[in-house]
Amino acid sequence: MRHAAVAIVLFAACAQITAPLELGPLDGSLEAAVVRQEKWVLSESDGSVSVLTPRSVRNEVARAWLRVVREERMRVAAWLKLPMVGKLELRVVDRFPDGFEADGFSSAKRVFVKGNPDAEPRSAERDLIGHELVHVFLASQWKVTRPFWFEEGLATYIEGESLGFGGTGTSLLAGTVGLEALDSRKLMFADLHSYPPRLGYRLAALAIDDFLVRHGKSKLLALGREAGDFEGAYAVVTGETVSLLEERWRSAIRAEILRRSR
Ligand SMILES: [Zn+2]
Repeated sequence: MRHAAVAIVLFAACAQITAPLELGPLDGSLEAAVVRQEKWVLSESDGSVSVLTPRSVRNEVARAWLRVVREERMRVAAWLKLPMVGKLELRVVDRFPDGFEADGFSSAKRVFVKGNPDAEPRSAERDLIGHELVHVFLASQWKVTRPFWFEEGLATYIEGESLGFGGTGTSLLAGTVGLEALDSRKLMFADLHSYPPRLGYRLAALAIDDFLVRHGKSKLLALGREAGDFEGAYAVVTGETVSLLEERWRSAIRAEILRRSR
């Protein structure tokens, strides 16, 4: 999935939501550029998970990063009910190439996060690693093609369980900024990638919340066992169309915009 275009609009990112920003599975050229830009040091490994840093770091710091990856990998695997297969790399990056303004991205086997390699990970970096690992699991173990709203919505939703929205009774729209500026007549899943990223991701997670409330988690996980076209898989698994979900989602956002304008 290519999200490179989103990088251009990241300067609009708002500070009100504390979650760091990331861009999901990206094209290989960015990954190659980041891999090339440093002389990477293998700082810690348990044989399954490795932590690489742009320079040597203290052992306890490297171990702390490894521990966070292992814990988040277990948490995400449990949520998605998927096995932890294959090797995984975390690369702690203290600068991304010019023009890339997000805080992280992932490929099928590597997670890149912006952080201070000389310090133990903070909670924001843990959240980001959890989010990225959702992409890693989906990329490596789900066959069905996934539209942006589903991919980022699910990653944000699962990340949000530790951030305090989604699955906790807190409104997924609480704290969103910029909702009022949207044209509520034109809300489309297909446009979410062009919204300010933090808002777009949260709105995508709202669609996942609707799915879970209406159909339950087992149906959501069943999508992962389908192959091919997403809309077809969605219809088979849920008995409704994506358009119906989208219509409910649009109505919920409209209601929230209306509530805020009163
Ligand atoms: Zn993402």
